Amino acid sequence: VRRNPGEVEFHQAVREVLDSLGPVIAKNPDYAEQKIIQRICEPERQIIFRVPWSDDNGEVHINRGMRVEFNSALGPYKGGLRFHPSVNLGIVKFLGFEQIFKNALTSLPIGGGKGGADFDPKGRSDDEIMRFCQSFMLELHRHLGERTDVPAGDTGVGVREIGWLFGQYKRITNRYESGVLTGKGVEWGGALVRNEATGYGLVFFLEEMLASAGKTLDGRTVVVSGSGNVAVHAIEKAQQHGALVVACSDSSGFVHDPAGLQLDVLKDVKLSRRKRISVYADEVGSATFVERGNIWTLLCDVALPCATQNELTRRDAELLARNGCIAVAEGANMPCTPDAIQMFESAGVAFGPGKAANAGGVATSALEMQQNASRDSWTFEHTERRLAEIMVSIHRLCHERSEQYGTPGNLVHGANIAGFERVARAMSALGLV
Ligand code: NDP
Repeated sequence: VRRNPGEVEFHQAVREVLDSLGPVIAKNPDYAEQKIIQRICEPERQIIFRVPWSDDNGEVHINRGMRVEFNSALGPYKGGLRFHPSVNLGIVKFLGFEQIFKNALTSLPIGGGKGGADFDPKGRSDDEIMRFCQSFMLELHRHLGERTDVPAGDTGVGVREIGWLFGQYKRITNRYESGVLTGKGVEWGGALVRNEATGYGLVFFLEEMLASAGKTLDGRTVVVSGSGNVAVHAIEKAQQHGALVVACSDSSGFVHDPAGLQLDVLKDVKLSRRKRISVYADEVGSATFVERGNIWTLLCDVALPCATQNELTRRDAELLARNGCIAVAEGANMPCTPDAIQMFESAGVAFGPGKAANAGGVATSALEMQQNASRDSWTFEHTERRLAEIMVSIHRLCHERSEQYGTPGNLVHGANIAGFERVARAMSALGLV
């Protein structure tokens, strides 16, 4: 805390991981001697830079861009870019720290990093966002490379922004280096399923959580927070698996549609037209919009927080448990507060932590890198099958570690331990670097 003042989300993420690691360190005294814990908490490199751009009226704006290259023991730094006014170093470091363990859990050769800017794309024209992306890349490009650091999208950065970032990288470097960014469009080096992968993967993981308790998703009522990339694709896959998804949200409030959300309308309103979620209720008679409402007050069997960090508190967890919720899986990064997670544990609500449950996005990014390296492109079905296998194996790994270390079924411990073990082994083998 003294070393990284004010970085509250980073402290929270570190504390949560370290809480699980006591037994691993006890079993491997070498890790203590080599100060693996201290090393893993210190980013290998952090880059902070000015991003100047001018809006459509000619007014000049200055944003702060950053990239935290956290750990490259397993492969090039890999992790998304977030454009949101709340972005600061503490947030990017928490996301980068989580990313190290998440990427390790996929068993693919990728290290951990994260980046972004405190830029607010809301209300900005396409031209303004493109100019911002170009200015951002003008500085960031010198730090990237398919063997060095490979960003992807995150909140506020989708296929459109990746296109503008990639176009600028290509122009500056005069290289069509497809593997330098993931989440690209399929016509220009992207992989099928990458766009859907985090939400789809979340549901594959959830199915495994339910199956290990002898249950399925079919016929369950589901509530999903957010209505961005992760949320919408989680809704799509949950519906394909027979769930009734009755609500989703954005930062203005939530919509409740007891008849089940109409995916085509939702995609049109949120992903194509980029409107507020209230427009869904304007267009679908069975739905109501609750401005600034708390989505976790709704009755459900399964809750999927897919919006942002610390969006689900202990009070919300109590409500969900009291209302009969049987499982919660995190689509967003760290959406549940630590005391909410404790609450789920004590109430017997199955809990899937984000670093395992939402790893499908980065796993499919690594599959995109494989396709770029071999100049190949795989079918949707093949890629989705690989994604499903990866999610099943992440669940199995977390479950096994939770049993081996005496907390059976505790996937928080399982994920932290399994992710740490892989990174720590590599760091130890690579020596004091
Ligand atoms: P998007 O920008 O596509 O969507 C974010 C959604 O969350 C929007 O609907 C946004 O609403 C909503 N939201 C943000 N803040 C709040 C809030 N305080 N209350 C309610 N809703 C809110 O981002 P993604 O879907 O890509 O990312 C969502 C989460 O998933 C993030 O935590 C991200 O780090 C994580 N994640 C994303 C991955 C990916 O592949 N994209 C991979 C792994 C994790 P509004 O439009 O009003 O701001």
